[in-house]
Amino acid sequence: MNIREIPKEGKKLSIKKDNAWFMDMVGGSNIDVESLHGDLTSAIDIHMHYEKSVAIEGSVHADVVLRCVKCLQSFHKKIDNNFSVVLEPYDTDGQTKHAIAKTELDAEFYVHDEFDPEAVVFEQIMLSLPLYPFCKPECKGLCTYCGINLNEHPEHKCKNKKEPSSLKSQLAKIKI
Ligand SMILES: [Zn+2]
Ligand SMILES: [Zn+2]
Repeated sequence: MNIREIPKEGKKLSIKKDNAWFMDMVGGSNIDVESLHGDLTSAIDIHMHYEKSVAIEGSVHADVVLRCVKCLQSFHKKIDNNFSVVLEPYDTDGQTKHAIAKTELDAEFYVHDEFDPEAVVFEQIMLSLPLYPFCKPECKGLCTYCGINLNEHPEHKCKNKKEPSSLKSQLAKIKI
């Protein structure tokens, strides 16, 4: 979208995106996202501030399927967030570059008067996802010896625990 398309009174936008779009955007992200369940929806309000700043406010709703890092099971993470971001013009002269280096982490920019509201919405979803997703805070994970899911078998006492002796018995079997 070009900033010239934003009228004085602002512009409202409804965004609806499916799994194919979402997974394409996820691309090489380091968060283990499995899929988007249903469509994501977002309603945003875009305003110009001080002629050059683009203010985007709105809400985003999505149901993202993640994989638990402890038990490797898929689980749903529901996102219902309100957000507000400001995009600043990115000028390529030396002075601005210096300023960008300083605030790189929390500033967002647009280039050549163009910005992508959908990318802003996508980023809001990614910011809501945990870097190390747990299906639940008290997830017990998998048995280190046999890989059984300890959430489903909380009483599990592993028979494979003594690896050396089980290896011995395996070798004994082979000899016979
Ligand atoms: Zn888990
Ligand atoms: Zn076990």
